[in-house]
Amino acid sequence: MDLFEYQARDLFEAGGVPVLPGRVASTPEQAAAAAAEIATPVVVVKAQVKTGGRGKAGGVKLARSPQEAGERAAEILGLDIRGHQVHQVMVAAGADIAEEYYFSLLLDRSSGGYLAMCSREGGMDIETLAVERPEALIRTPVDPLVGLDAATAAQIVADAGFDEADRPAIADVLVTLGRVYADNDATLVEVNPLVKTGDGAIIALDGKITLDDNAAFRHPEWEQYAESSDADPLEVRAKAKGLNYVKLDGTVGVIGNGAGLVMSTLDVVAAAGAELPGQPRPANFLDIGGGASASVMADGLEIILADPQVRVVLVNVFGGITACSEVAKGISDALAMLGDKASKPIVVRLDGNAVEIGRHLLIEAAHPLVELADTMDAAARRAAELAAD
Ligand code: GDP
Ligand code: MN
Repeated sequence: MDLFEYQARDLFEAGGVPVLPGRVASTPEQAAAAAAEIATPVVVVKAQVKTGGRGKAGGVKLARSPQEAGERAAEILGLDIRGHQVHQVMVAAGADIAEEYYFSLLLDRSSGGYLAMCSREGGMDIETLAVERPEALIRTPVDPLVGLDAATAAQIVADAGFDEADRPAIADVLVTLGRVYADNDATLVEVNPLVKTGDGAIIALDGKITLDDNAAFRHPEWEQYAESSDADPLEVRAKAKGLNYVKLDGTVGVIGNGAGLVMSTLDVVAAAGAELPGQPRPANFLDIGGGASASVMADGLEIILADPQVRVVLVNVFGGITACSEVAKGISDALAMLGDKASKPIVVRLDGNAVEIGRHLLIEAAHPLVELADTMDAAARRAAELAAD
């Protein structure tokens, strides 16, 4: 999970990384009030979106009074920056920038360790620097069992070619950033720019943190990020139920067991839909896994039926360890649990272990919304037909 800059700033501050005061605002009035509280001669108003290049896109602006901060916020709020709508800005104390550097620490899967990257030439697009002048961006492996210790930090600042006089202060900040990375179970901490100010202080002026979702179980405090994230509300609900759901933009809801089967189902639905009026496409990816119990089926159906774009649901289950008879019971029980909430046609394709019993159970139950199909292709075709214009 990626954090917004203001959230990264807060974690930096809590971990002892030097940052400037900053406050988040979602209206021009709040931005003006924040600027008045910060009370520095210059403040910077920054779009809070989870993408880089905000500066170039007009999402970072200076203001010299609370009123100006409000005006700049009014310009930035509502901007679309590379497909990300700006709902919030951060108002931060303005910095007197003498030099801009780059630093990041990230998980390097290929080496099974961490990798630190550092450059004296920060601020700009680091991908461009890495391509055009790779020698200006130094890369240092960091042992995860040791972390970014003082010796490694000293090595990094020397290799990056910082002036002798600046090295100790920069190395200190790198060690602190390394601690923030480890303490927060991050897979990325990036500071671009890390600046030296006119009076020689080293400050993290922009921050990006990616948290390792696999560590969420030991970070109850991460709940706050889920609420504030710009994730799809249905995805947030599905995640809370432990479902593997991804919202797509079509009208055919899809439930299956096993990621591979669900992905092929999406392809088959899209292919069938391509030949029909309105070209119906899948509305989601949802893998209910091997168990496919009634309660999981009910949770899955409930999420899909809560998507107003969905016109029809396609259930595609291959009975393996879980017999189709169990899956059929799961569907019937789920429909009973959902009652009136189940209001759209459901095309069901079952195959594999105990398929005869499973199909028989569904035919006997004769639920008015359920239709059986013999093959995956036939099921996808029928679902696409029901969703067509
Ligand atoms: P990004 O474009 O999304 O990476 O946003 P940044 O936070 O990195 O800001 C982009 C650029 O704006 C920085 O590289 C700085 O040059 C400039 N900038 C950001 N904050 C300040 C500030 O407080 N004062 C000044 N003078 N410039 C700033
Ligand atoms: Mn930046």
